[in-house]
Amino acid sequence: MEYATLAEYCRRLEAADADETLVETLAELFRTADADHLPLVVTMVRGKVAPRWEQVELGVSSSLTREAIVRATGVDGDALETEWRDRGDLGAAAEWAVGESPQTTLVSETLTVAGVHEQIRALADLKGAGSESKRVETVAGLLADADPEEARYLVRTVLGYMRVGVGDGTIRDAVAEAFLDADGEPAPGTPTATQPAVDAVEAAFQVTNDYREVAATARDRGIDGLRELDVRLGRPVESMLAQKAEGLAAGLANVARGDDRTATVSEGRTGTEVSESTDETSPWAGRVLAEVKYDGVRVQAHVDGDDVWLFTRRLVDVTEQFPEVVAALRGRVTTDRALLDGELVGYDPESGAPVPFQEFSRRIRQEEDVAGLAAEIPAVCHLFDCLVADEETLLDAPLRERLDLLDETVAFPDPTDEPVGTRDLAPGDRDGRVTPDDEAAVSDETLPSDAAPGDDEHPTLRRAAWCVPSDEAAARSFYRAAVEAGHEGVMVKNLAASYQPGRRVGQMLKHKPVMEPLDLVVTRATYSEGRRSELLGRLFLGAYDPDAESFHEVGRLSTGYTDEELERLTERLEELVVSRDGRDVDLQPEVVLEVEYEEIQSSPEYASGYALRFPRFLGVRGDLDPSDADTVARVESLYDEQ
Ligand code: AMP
Repeated sequence: MEYATLAEYCRRLEAADADETLVETLAELFRTADADHLPLVVTMVRGKVAPRWEQVELGVSSSLTREAIVRATGVDGDALETEWRDRGDLGAAAEWAVGESPQTTLVSETLTVAGVHEQIRALADLKGAGSESKRVETVAGLLADADPEEARYLVRTVLGYMRVGVGDGTIRDAVAEAFLDADGEPAPGTPTATQPAVDAVEAAFQVTNDYREVAATARDRGIDGLRELDVRLGRPVESMLAQKAEGLAAGLANVARGDDRTATVSEGRTGTEVSESTDETSPWAGRVLAEVKYDGVRVQAHVDGDDVWLFTRRLVDVTEQFPEVVAALRGRVTTDRALLDGELVGYDPESGAPVPFQEFSRRIRQEEDVAGLAAEIPAVCHLFDCLVADEETLLDAPLRERLDLLDETVAFPDPTDEPVGTRDLAPGDRDGRVTPDDEAAVSDETLPSDAAPGDDEHPTLRRAAWCVPSDEAAARSFYRAAVEAGHEGVMVKNLAASYQPGRRVGQMLKHKPVMEPLDLVVTRATYSEGRRSELLGRLFLGAYDPDAESFHEVGRLSTGYTDEELERLTERLEELVVSRDGRDVDLQPEVVLEVEYEEIQSSPEYASGYALRFPRFLGVRGDLDPSDADTVARVESLYDEQ
């Protein structure tokens, strides 16, 4: 298949103005590709050369690509910068450059999909000295053979972002549309494919995490083939993610409503309404699980006989970095096969208290001394889900059942054998009720441990601490205990809900303390990429230093504003530009923003020595002068108080 064909389809996809056209066009592309090309096309149409779990890092930056475009086309670098800025996309700028190119290649080869895929995929294997220039050479070589349209999509592919409006949902619908013909109701957005067909494709993707395999199976073996696909141990599935609760009370009610919209939750109830009453059982009682939200690293543990793998939420294989967890899984998993979901937390071996995520994250970096670090910051794996137990795949099973199987699959220590003080929190009775008396007991057991995890008495594998609260007061008390024990907050989960890989779902909500917002000054900014490329969407924030009368950066903001807010902000900031470097601008420190965030970390990245974790825009403080902004000293004291 010629690459020009793929590029032409990408152009049509980009121009499609309705979801239906997108799906139909993509389905047509899938049908056009032969058996060898279908798997390549399925990933390349999203600007990728491999599924996420293969961890293929091409190592191509936009500045490297810019250099390759200049080399291949001979256009002036500054002119390319201007086009890039005006078009907001380096792919579009490359298309312009190839069209303008004063250089004509003497022997130009026809690009094929397989050839392009192979060359781009090989970029990931370039290592060490000289690899940077080899990358430029490869990308320039491809561009030299490309026509303008091909150049547009080649550049986007090396940058890993296709921008043709195709997401997982579009691929799913298009695979169904292209290859399946099942009975049932019409599927939304796809005029002819049927709902059972779309569902079968979705389910197959959830277990395999690989649309290459799903598309090929749909084409060759239809729905029956798709239904036979299963989780493969050693290959990670996507993690299910939580939404944020609007307060604990609303969180509990909403989670219960997740599977049952007729639940007896009164309409007028708001997130701020707090009922401390315990004499009445809440409508959601017995259906919602409250669990400690640990601040660590999400981990998916796969066990297949003696083989064990650990993957992070980004699907990175971190098995080698956590030998103690691997050993614990080998020793305590009682079944031959298992896929378990949990959070790895680092503990201080002296005090037994959890260490901040930032410190623990040293253990994920491969270059560190694994054994030394494991002794310095031992990990405990708090497990909270079970997706495979022996021959059973449990994604569709309700959480209640998955947790029962988790307890059967792992030989957790009996908590009653442990001395008080070494437990995070005592487990509640999942099938019963936590009474106010029990709550006191739960809180008492949150004392920091004085022993290191990892030995027989303080095992590395634990079930995440949980209870099934009977009312809001019980949940609130559990939450307080979790925070006092040094954890992040709580997760509330619907016990009847299935596991939905890769989704941010409403049946699982997180609740944690919100830090007081800060008023900070915008010191520098960068234009966004993509849809908002005209707008200064990345803003560096500074806290005030009254002695030096200057601002020290504490983080970078890129979420929380609406398009209108960002447009107004950009207009204001563009008046304050002191200097420009490509898409980066330095600003007079004039504009004060109110910003919320989840945590303050110490960080060498910024001059202040601190970094806000997950900052979010709340509003412009037009009423404040820059010198009224929060000070570095204030950031420092908030950091100490956390
Ligand atoms: P956030 O990163 O704030 O979106 O919160 C979701 C993350 O909380 C998950 O990806 C997990 O890494 C983590 N987490 C900690 N404890 C739990 C728990 N008991 N259940 C589910 N996720 C948890």
